[in-house]
Amino acid sequence: MSKIRVTVWNEYRHEMTQQAVRDAYPIGIHGAIREGLLEESDFEVRCAWLDQDEEHGLSEAVLAETDVLFWWGHMAHGEVKDEIVDRVQKRIQEGMGLVVLHSGHFSKIFRRMLGTTCSLKWREVGEKERIWNIEPAHPIAVGLPDHFELPHTEMYGERFDIPTPKDTVFITWYEGGEVFRSGVTFERGYGRIFYFAPGHETFPIYYDQNIRKVLRNAARWAAPRFMQEITCPNVPALEEIKTVMN
Ligand code: ZN
Repeated sequence: MSKIRVTVWNEYRHEMTQQAVRDAYPIGIHGAIREGLLEESDFEVRCAWLDQDEEHGLSEAVLAETDVLFWWGHMAHGEVKDEIVDRVQKRIQEGMGLVVLHSGHFSKIFRRMLGTTCSLKWREVGEKERIWNIEPAHPIAVGLPDHFELPHTEMYGERFDIPTPKDTVFITWYEGGEVFRSGVTFERGYGRIFYFAPGHETFPIYYDQNIRKVLRNAARWAAPRFMQEITCPNVPALEEIKTVMN
């Protein structure tokens, strides 16, 4: 079976400027995500980042070779060029998968695909998070326990301003009392989208084995089953039409 081609896109600014983030992610957030995917042999993984080149590492050629795009961004959403967002959106509509992580809830591409503000409540005190697996039969939840915990996380609370998801796979409870739809799916065109909330830059969340399993499952689930350009064609009739406009 051919491998699923994943591109892990990371803004890669925090790691360059903040020691606490370098300490948590010495190989970059993208590096930790890539490492987790490669724990199983189904994936071929490349990385891309905001300042990589003029196209943020997302040329037409790279996207043409990408089955699933992972997206981590936070402090520089506004610097992602609209023409690149257009390009990624088109590719998703044609069938590419998109996995948006944590603060990517405010990325241009996620808001474009969902059409809502994607706003939420937040609090950064390093509290405990308990993630409930509420759809254990869902492909993204396969092999995950009934619930699992992260000892330190950033709180993302409801209301999360998203359209009604196709599936809500995970719900999170935080030590401070809030709840959140932390794992949700959408479909746009032929493409599948998964948003997963855990992943704050100063906590080593992408080294957690349950989190890594979710990301591998998500990459498999979001991989294209069908790809086709959407063109709005004008078509001839299949049968002779007896009533015509005149
Ligand atoms: Zn965060």
